[in-house]
Amino acid sequence: MGLGAVRRTALVTGAAGFLGSHLCERLLGEGFEVVGIDNLMTGDLTNLESARKSPYFHFEIGDVREPIRVYAELVFNLACPASPRHYQDDPYATLTSSVFGAQRLVEMARGRRCTIIHASTSEVYGDPTVHPQPETYWGNVNPVGERSCYDEGKRCAETLLFDARRRWHVDARIVRIFNTYGPRMAFDDGRVVSNFITQALTGLPLTIFGDGSQSRSFCYVDDLIEGLVRTARLDALDGPMNLGNPGELTIGELAQLVIELTGSKTLLVRKALPQDDPQQRKPDITRAKREIGFLPQIDIRAGLTRTIDDFAQRLASIASQRQERARHEHAVAIEMSPMPLAKLANAIDASSEEIRSCGDAHRLGDRMRASQRFVRVSDSLDVIARRLSEAWLVYEGLTVGITLRAFTQQLADLVAQLLDAQRSNDSVRIADLLEYEMLPLLVRCRALAAP
Ligand code: UDP
Repeated sequence: MGLGAVRRTALVTGAAGFLGSHLCERLLGEGFEVVGIDNLMTGDLTNLESARKSPYFHFEIGDVREPIRVYAELVFNLACPASPRHYQDDPYATLTSSVFGAQRLVEMARGRRCTIIHASTSEVYGDPTVHPQPETYWGNVNPVGERSCYDEGKRCAETLLFDARRRWHVDARIVRIFNTYGPRMAFDDGRVVSNFITQALTGLPLTIFGDGSQSRSFCYVDDLIEGLVRTARLDALDGPMNLGNPGELTIGELAQLVIELTGSKTLLVRKALPQDDPQQRKPDITRAKREIGFLPQIDIRAGLTRTIDDFAQRLASIASQRQERARHEHAVAIEMSPMPLAKLANAIDASSEEIRSCGDAHRLGDRMRASQRFVRVSDSLDVIARRLSEAWLVYEGLTVGITLRAFTQQLADLVAQLLDAQRSNDSVRIADLLEYEMLPLLVRCRALAAP
């Protein structure tokens, strides 16, 4: 029991993230007073809508790299961007959040009765040469690659916490979390599960990095949270402990499963494999079974089905909000001056077919037709660019104007990429850029300009 408090207090750092928000809800359900901290670098306050309804939940915008002033008996340290896209966006913040965050928690816990459950990661094993990975495996990590800010940051945090255990008897417990998925994952975190589900539900091709033969083992969020809570209930835990679901599948198999469960008719598209992407990953959970009776309950089909339902609901609500906003803005814009938007719509209609046929010619390797079409597409993109800037000049100040301006920038970037691909005679890239980047951009522009 906390000093003077009726309820035990738990601090969750990274509370507004995917795992953090689920954990806060679970702890509230267990009768804890919960303090959540998040700097909102990748967290999202809407994740906390449900937790914030509880009078026992307290949220603070704060950074774990700053001194922490909360008195809590139990600390769950989840504060760190965790998806490759997010952690590579700001590698400095990623590494310092891991290492300085752990340091702050040690400062807070030294000399107090406080248990820290630190979220480490399967990334400490890097691209493993031992399969499945037991806790005794030391890993195979590149110290200077694109993933290093996360991998090495987490490894260094483990070192720091273990030294604090030895030197000051800080009760720091380390769990190594393997790929986890479930409702509330961010649409744009770039992770494979969120990407595939969003793509399948919106009719975009599923992006397979490499040949799709690399494997991962996916754990449903409720199982993972159960593991965290059980770890906290132990009297003591020495040494790190894996938490994850050992059910392993290749990324190609995952794509097929998502297509099947969403009933999507979409295709697959190959993209380059990111640097240092681990070829295989599967937790050895012998230790977690022994220590906390950990046994994941939700298999991948059941978990994906729940996750797909959640994504579908959230996408539908975003779409209806957007439509409502677009209807409103369109009405205002039309009232001001209908002409430039109508001209833009005409220019897009005239070009879309051209673009499609240019993409086909490039894909079929029809060189002659492809280069004729490319010239025509460049001309029509020029016209669209002119119409776009005409339109945003008129609507400057309204959100429509700002959106059109962003489209202008994206169009210019895409045209630069297209010219680059043309210079290196890269037909596949031209076709991909036209089909997957240019056409969707024009569809969005067209929706805004639709009379
Ligand atoms: N991946 C993919 N398509 C995507 C996103 C990811 O094929 O749209 C692959 C990625 O290259 C990796 C695996 O899926 O091999 C898992 O990636 P994720 O980013 O979800 O997690 P991590 O690499 O950290 O395990």
